[in-house]
Amino acid sequence: MASAQTMVTSHQHGADHDHSAKETVLLVGAGIVNLITAEYLATRGFHVRLVDQAPDPRYCKDWTRMGITNGGGNARMFTNTEADNYNEKGSKIYQDMQSIFRKTTRQGGWSVKQPADFTAAELAWVKEFEEVPPSLAQTVREDIHAINQEAGKLWAELMYNTPQLFEGVEYRKDIVRMYVEQVALNAAVQLHRRLNALVQSPPTENFLETHPSFRAAAESDHLAGGLTVEGFTVNIHPFAANLMKRITNLGGELVWGCRVTTIQRTSDGQVTSLQSDEGELHADHYVISPGVNGNALLKGTESENMMQGVLGVWLQIPNLHPRTQLSIKIHRRGHLVEDINITVAKDVDTGEDILMFGGGYGYIGLDRPAPDSPELAALFDELEEVARIYFPKAHTVAKERGTLWPGGQRKYCIRPFTPTGLGLFEKIPAASGGQLIITGGNNTGGFAQAPAIARAVHRALIGEHDPMHDLFHPARGKIATTSETGTSQRADPLSVTRADPQQPLRLLLLCSDGPQHSYLRYRLDKIFPGYHCIQETHEGQVRQLIQKRRMVDAYYMKYHTLRRQVTGHNKQRRAYFDRLTPKDHEFTEPDLVVDTLNCRKVWDAVEKWQPELTIVSGTKYIGKKLTERAGLMINLHIGHLPEYKGNHCIFFALYDGAVDKVAATLHQLTLTLDGGNMLDTVSPTILPSDNEESLYARCVHMAMDRVVEHAESFAEGKPLKFVKQENIGTVYRHRDRTPGKELYLWWKMRVGGTLTRAKQLQG
Ligand SMILES: Cc1cc2nc3c(=O)[nH]c(=O)nc-3n(C[C@H](O)[C@H](O)[C@H](O)COP(=O)(O)OP(=O)(O)OC[C@H]3O[C@@H](n4cnc5c(N)ncnc54)[C@H](O)[C@@H]3O)c2cc1C
Repeated sequence: MASAQTMVTSHQHGADHDHSAKETVLLVGAGIVNLITAEYLATRGFHVRLVDQAPDPRYCKDWTRMGITNGGGNARMFTNTEADNYNEKGSKIYQDMQSIFRKTTRQGGWSVKQPADFTAAELAWVKEFEEVPPSLAQTVREDIHAINQEAGKLWAELMYNTPQLFEGVEYRKDIVRMYVEQVALNAAVQLHRRLNALVQSPPTENFLETHPSFRAAAESDHLAGGLTVEGFTVNIHPFAANLMKRITNLGGELVWGCRVTTIQRTSDGQVTSLQSDEGELHADHYVISPGVNGNALLKGTESENMMQGVLGVWLQIPNLHPRTQLSIKIHRRGHLVEDINITVAKDVDTGEDILMFGGGYGYIGLDRPAPDSPELAALFDELEEVARIYFPKAHTVAKERGTLWPGGQRKYCIRPFTPTGLGLFEKIPAASGGQLIITGGNNTGGFAQAPAIARAVHRALIGEHDPMHDLFHPARGKIATTSETGTSQRADPLSVTRADPQQPLRLLLLCSDGPQHSYLRYRLDKIFPGYHCIQETHEGQVRQLIQKRRMVDAYYMKYHTLRRQVTGHNKQRRAYFDRLTPKDHEFTEPDLVVDTLNCRKVWDAVEKWQPELTIVSGTKYIGKKLTERAGLMINLHIGHLPEYKGNHCIFFALYDGAVDKVAATLHQLTLTLDGGNMLDTVSPTILPSDNEESLYARCVHMAMDRVVEHAESFAEGKPLKFVKQENIGTVYRHRDRTPGKELYLWWKMRVGGTLTRAKQLQG
């Protein structure tokens, strides 16, 4: 086993700012959140060391000494609504939650601790939960879903890139969700449809035909119906063990039985080291994700007292014939065990096929529960009742064999909860130039959100922004409510500011080689000397399509070049932009000229430059390897978002007669085509003499001028403010603009007078 103290910083290697010496990251806590984070960082070139106060869970069988990941039941679930919060007191589903933590489980509430025994810090937590206004709760809920959705994409990438992590873990895809009440079932169908996560929502009778074993539950009013949603489950213990193995294979280290006691800081708050039972620990960066046991360690940080314990309980039954294939989630509003996850699993000791039940809520604040607590017993009784109602046969077998609680042990584990339902993400500068990051507090969804947390940590370490940095900022949990209005203030989640405006902005332009792109380069040459530029040529784009055998797309790109030549639009565009660029301007040569931006040469160059802001104009789809390296990316989309996505959006807006949608949108470039948050929209005044090309050129011109303005104010340290883009609209491809549609628009504009009418409307 490695010792805790031997880790050195990259500076001690004598390699200040030299990325060839790996930057070191010390992670405190080896639960699922930090295991996923460590894997993410190690894959991206950091040297990681995890230290945990618990013994190595692969060898120690005493669950009471572990954190929640290894000490809890051997099952976890990902769904897009995991970590749902219970603050939505205005909603039909959670309307009775106001004083839920002030009643014990035996009184029908969610507290295992007697409210009379709450400490000041616990009372403050409960009060904060109660004071979350419904309007904020709704926003928080949407933010949680957005984080989950991001996490879902990252889980998919992890499965694709690292399938060995999912070997031997009983991976099950898709989740059956069951509801006791019709109102909750209807709300769930709507929600999952909105989240694009609905796989099936059959009428109840059809649902029962597919799942006949639940008919008795339906007949006794315990089931209104069910649906299938996207998601998956794993057996978390072998999954965590696979992660440990991979981290070690990547050169990372795991140190068990080492308790970290304090964060050492200078008088101005910078972190110098961590103090542990084994002495001082140093690294370039620190990531603390201690679950619910780490409050003492977080003393003096903004996260102190925010993660408090809400425990849940576990039981298991055999998965009898006909075996349940999909894992299940049951929602029973108003019950002690409100949401129950039932995971298809294997008993680690016997290898038997089992169903693992996990659920229930018991607030314990910053304490531990007494093992003989009758409040805790009430939760176990109720979970057993769920097993009896929905799986009567298997429940009887387990009861008779005495295996409901394996080894006779009633296992519980304690979730790190926050009052708002949001997780935590706190950044504290380290004296070494690195950072200390605190994560966690992900309530019921620490497993589900782990990859999104990992990415946010990585982005923080490389100086990039991630929405989680704002969304999970601990100050956001400390809601300032004004009693007169009942309104609340919170950090703007979609506002991005540079870390150090004193330094020149590291700017990158990714563009094509049309006359409009020369205009943009001219503007940037003047304002941001020394910026980097990579050009993806038009001809290169066509060559790439041919190389990838996308012949129809290549043909349509060629066709549109020819069309623009024949109609004179090429000439018109060149004339428009040439007149904006002084003839004697000496262009800075692009750093690279390529056929495609998605290539090693580009990734390496961008990795080296570490841009803070990347402006994108006229390129083909940009893949993950580049988006990961290019900082904040703003795309100039010539079309009105969210309705018109892809290519030829001005053409299609005119074709639809939607003249108010003749516009260009600046938006954050993400992996979803034209789907990122929006920064600005520009739209030209329409003149009767306009044609599609003149409108296109003016949209491009306005968008380029506007993006330069935004880059200037960003460089000065002013925030860029984005708004979320609705998930609607149509993506248009080159092939959608056919000669027939061309003719129709020509007729509409010449004969139908589309633009004359638009002018009248504008007038
Ligand atoms: C019944 C139940 C069911 C659940 N089901 C799901 C689910 O299906 N999906 C889902 O997403 N989430 C689920 N959760 C929640 C999820 O399990 C947790 O959010 C997640 O495991 C938390 O992981 P973590 O890494 O933050 O904490 P932990 O796993 O507790 O890890 C923290 C580690 O830090 C160590 N540590 C603490 N303090 C120190 C210190 N000072 N020095 C050194 N080491 C320290 C601890 O020993 C521990 O190993 C469930 C929770 C419960 C109770």
